[in-house]
Amino acid sequence: IIRLDGVPMTQDGSYRGMLFLLQEVTDIRRLEKMRSEFVANVSHELKTPVAAVKGFAETLLGGGVTDEKTARSFLQIIYDENERLNRLIGDILELSKIESKRAHLVCSPIHLSTFFDSVLETMSKVAEKKKISLSAEVPEELFIEGDEDKLRQIFMNLLSNAINYTHDGGNVRVIAVNKQKEDGSESVVFTVRDTGMGIPRKDLPRIFERFYRVDKARSRSSGGTGLGLSIVKHLVELHRGVISVESNLGIGTSFLLELPLLQEDEEY
Ligand code: ADP
Repeated sequence: IIRLDGVPMTQDGSYRGMLFLLQEVTDIRRLEKMRSEFVANVSHELKTPVAAVKGFAETLLGGGVTDEKTARSFLQIIYDENERLNRLIGDILELSKIESKRAHLVCSPIHLSTFFDSVLETMSKVAEKKKISLSAEVPEELFIEGDEDKLRQIFMNLLSNAINYTHDGGNVRVIAVNKQKEDGSESVVFTVRDTGMGIPRKDLPRIFERFYRVDKARSRSSGGTGLGLSIVKHLVELHRGVISVESNLGIGTSFLLELPLLQEDEEY
């Protein structure tokens, strides 16, 4: 769409739209650049596990591995890398669905206390493994209108990051509070707080970008795809909410989300 607002119309009714046209071309170039970077990133991310699966399978097929322990450890690598491929493909499809605006909300009232009981139960196994204490502080009477599956995905992604990037024995906590806004509407402010390693200040503005990782090796070794937070941000925005992050290196990280209590009554 070429924006013509504010451009003076000539006597014959045509617009002088040159400047806007140039801006449009620049925008298209920028989008094309982003798209080709994304394709390059995706190819790179997919190639790594595919190469690992191929390499280890070839070694096993070559018959050179005779002891069972080594053979099993190679099979485990093949299995894990295949799982990573699965997650990557799932995340890429999810992201492309959201970005091409094909994702919509199926909203219902959600009792937040029950919702977090179930989310925390799902995450409890991973937390227990690292002896991380996982808890939620949610007012008993609080409901929110939203898409339950998508809200679940938001909090599962944030909580699995929080657990992932927190040392053994740490703390991960979710807090929800009801907020009355100045315009008379209401929202819910969520905080997902951990006592983990934190994020360096210079990286903070970029962590919601696709495939951006502070520490690539750590993210990969813990099974991360580098897409979790960009999916979270899109899903929050789909709910007309906002997300931000605060972090202190070596002390911990808090993600803050504000979601409207009610979704506007329209076609989701
Ligand atoms: P990943 O799959 O790598 O975790 P995400 O998009 O979920 O990808 O997160 C992007 C990066 O942000 C991570 O690689 C990590 O470096 C950083 N990060 C996210 N959450 C946290 C957290 N709670 N504590 C510390 N670093 C985090």
